[in-house]
Amino acid sequence: MTERTLTIIKPDSTEKGNVGAIVAHLEREGFRIVAARMMRLTETQARAFYEVHRERPFYDDLVAYMTSGPVWPMALERENAVSYLREVMGATNPAEAAEGTIRKLYGESIERNAIHGSDSPENAAKEIAFFFPRTELV
Ligand code: GDP
Repeated sequence: MTERTLTIIKPDSTEKGNVGAIVAHLEREGFRIVAARMMRLTETQARAFYEVHRERPFYDDLVAYMTSGPVWPMALERENAVSYLREVMGATNPAEAAEGTIRKLYGESIERNAIHGSDSPENAAKEIAFFFPRTELV
């Protein structure tokens, strides 16, 4: 089933100049980019996006990291996009991610792990709407 998911190329990737390589990796894996933007998250936006983690000990660090530089949110379309992106992205901790995954290739720590990917179709819909009005999905 064709579905949509949300990725964010995170600040460590923009800092290291890995944006192009990550976009190429996603396209090679069959994802079609249906919306994209480059932006710097405000603290309010980062706190809202990661609201589910607000009780976690790493929440403040995560917000500081996600606002530390430019990010590239993108809506992606593919067969089984949500689960396939999780596969291509790899485990949260790059040290535990499978060979060839984006986090293994480009991540550097459990926090600075290169890329975000929605974890369910429900969250994908919410996260796409967080960044893109319906009219910007092409
Ligand atoms: P994901 O779905 O694989 O991105 O993982 P989570 O939803 O559990 O966590 C969201 C993001 O928070 C991760 O992608 C990391 O950037 C960060 N994060 C997760 N766990 C930790 C942790 O134990 N320490 C720190 N500093 N950051 C973490």
